[in-house]
Amino acid sequence: MAKTKTPLCAKCPSGICNPSIKTGEKFPMEKAPGFCPMTNMSGVMQKALLEYDKPETREFARKASLQEFECYENTPQGRRTKNPRILELIEFSKKCGYKKLGLAFCVGLSEEARALTDLLESHGFEVISVRCKTGGVPKEKIGIKPEEKIAGPESWESMCNPIAQAEILNAAKVDFAVMLGLCIGHDTLFIKYCRVPMTVIAVKDRVTGHNPLAALYTINSYYRGLAKKTSKP
Ligand code: SF4
Repeated sequence: MAKTKTPLCAKCPSGICNPSIKTGEKFPMEKAPGFCPMTNMSGVMQKALLEYDKPETREFARKASLQEFECYENTPQGRRTKNPRILELIEFSKKCGYKKLGLAFCVGLSEEARALTDLLESHGFEVISVRCKTGGVPKEKIGIKPEEKIAGPESWESMCNPIAQAEILNAAKVDFAVMLGLCIGHDTLFIKYCRVPMTVIAVKDRVTGHNPLAALYTINSYYRGLAKKTSKP
């Protein structure tokens, strides 16, 4: 096992932060690995925990946890999951009393944006939506060269404008922003500039039907080439 004290939860053999014990039993901290942030970063842990003492944060976290709970059901055959994320979005928004939702979507998912808008409206929400190409700003604005345009050097190409998407939703004072299929990096900028609560309904993956985990689930077969050693970033 790694000897580092850097947090490596993804390599944890014990997962003791969620122990299989009854309420009231002693928390088995001694089983935490050497790289566990619960032992090595207790100051950070304490600081994070204090945040939940803020009433608004506590209530938001409670509702999120309740939403999580409601996605399972115990049946005579055992525990099973229910509720796709789309339904979770609707239920969580209702729990939080959100009425006006903001949708920041990618032009490549315009049909999905329309369908999601129709669905949310059918549940009584007002939906403000902003497409990634809003503004119609040419990619030259951010230093893209002709040979770096997807449709070819001669073509006009509007840049994705996640900052405008975020600022438009901020200005519209939406209760909750929803990201639909923004590219890597564009999503980073949207998150940076969005000043209302936000969530992600889907991320962009052009070859897996927007399911990036598909490449991981097949990492030992069709996508095994991804694991080749390359130079460090
Ligand atoms: S918090 Fe500690 S026990 Fe939990 S997964 Fe990370 S290293 Fe493992």
